[in-house]
Amino acid sequence: MILELLKGDITELNVDAIVNAANTSLLGGGGVDGAIHRKGGKAILEECVQIRNKQGGCKTGEAVITTAGNLPSKYVIHTVGPVWNGDKEEKSKLLADCYKNSLNLAIQNGIKSIAFPNISTGIYHFPKYKAAEIAVNTIKDFDKSEEIEKVIFVCFDDENYKIYQNILQDVP
Ligand code: ADP
Repeated sequence: MILELLKGDITELNVDAIVNAANTSLLGGGGVDGAIHRKGGKAILEECVQIRNKQGGCKTGEAVITTAGNLPSKYVIHTVGPVWNGDKEEKSKLLADCYKNSLNLAIQNGIKSIAFPNISTGIYHFPKYKAAEIAVNTIKDFDKSEEIEKVIFVCFDDENYKIYQNILQDVP
């Protein structure tokens, strides 16, 4: 599995799947979620509504998959990051679950390339350095890693980009 770092807008990437930092309603929101629904068009929301009708949204740490609508990627994997409130261990586990469950869903759908935003580090206020360490370590430790060819970490803000540059430098 190749790990890549990119600075920019995840909605522009031509990969098998981009991951959305969604919320439990699956009905869209601000930040990256808003950008994905805006550019991807109504097909994404329609599938989210179907999933919601069937299973009542998506729990924190879990993931669901839809079409990518008008986006260049094939799929969007929607995962719900934890809202940071200081309960460090529980929130860290839930953030790791987001990455693991997204990768498992990717494998089930034959996805070979996947791009992640910095889940929970926007509106949900997870500390950025801690979130990046969890993201990188969870993906490095993922036991079925050979089934995915490429994982791209997409940073939208400078601070996250610098943090990932530092952490990924140390990745053997
Ligand atoms: P959360 O609610 O999980 O914190 P946000 O969307 O508020 O989700 O933020 C998650 C991360 O996504 C933040 O680091 C934010 O800078 C980043 N982000 C916002 N828009 C985009 C985009 N178009 N592409 C990639 N990352 C984005």
